[in-house]
Amino acid sequence: MQKMRPFILKETNWKTVENGHWEVAVLPWGATEAHNYHLPYSTDNLQCEYIAEKAAEIAWAKGAKVMVLPTIPFGVNKAQMDVKFNINMNPSTQFLVLKDIVESLKTQGCRKLLILNGHGGNHFSHMLRELYDKNKFFICAADWYKAADVKKHFVHSSDHAGEFETSVMLHIAPSWVLPLSKAGPGKAKKIKMKSFEEGWVWAQRAWLGEVTRDTGIGNPALSSAEKGKKFLEAVIHKISKLLIELDQAQLDDLYK
Ligand SMILES: [Zn+2]
Repeated sequence: MQKMRPFILKETNWKTVENGHWEVAVLPWGATEAHNYHLPYSTDNLQCEYIAEKAAEIAWAKGAKVMVLPTIPFGVNKAQMDVKFNINMNPSTQFLVLKDIVESLKTQGCRKLLILNGHGGNHFSHMLRELYDKNKFFICAADWYKAADVKKHFVHSSDHAGEFETSVMLHIAPSWVLPLSKAGPGKAKKIKMKSFEEGWVWAQRAWLGEVTRDTGIGNPALSSAEKGKKFLEAVIHKISKLLIELDQAQLDDLYK
């Protein structure tokens, strides 16, 4: 088993933590949902936890005081309630969870939090507005898959169980990925109303049986572990830089 790492909370202990100071907490936030036929239900959780840990490792080696919290495994999946074992956590519940975590961290002296999001249905900006506390506690949120250019790394830049998620999983958890011959094509239907194609109006889309047959959105056929590795390297590099910046930021002197 791997050696205990002082920047991963699930591995460390009170002996290590009692007299130390951790400036930045990282909260990976995923989802439990079907990913086409071939990827595991834990795909979003595995991905954002892996990235958080690797980025924290680099930042820690450069002196940043970061701590990766345990991953929240449930995301917003209201439109997929009819998919067996997709577990929905409503945005209003997520807000209460986040509020309690922030309150705990605040009381204990940690002053900065990065939510590292791994699920397209999770959105935190309105929660961050409500939890805003000038100069006292800083919260930011990032979708890890936006930290590098998906279009540069993959032919099909699809968003759910397609080429990029499958490639990433082939790199980090290959034994939990079924052969690509078992995957569906991830074909998705679009809403008929033309205005939606222009991208300025949004609505929650339906899922199984309406928009997709195999629960995937995006074709995984061209996936490879090598593509996933390269994409993750770019993502992890960017997130480690963010963690170092967060560690060094002065809450009463944030703006230039
Ligand atoms: Zn996913």
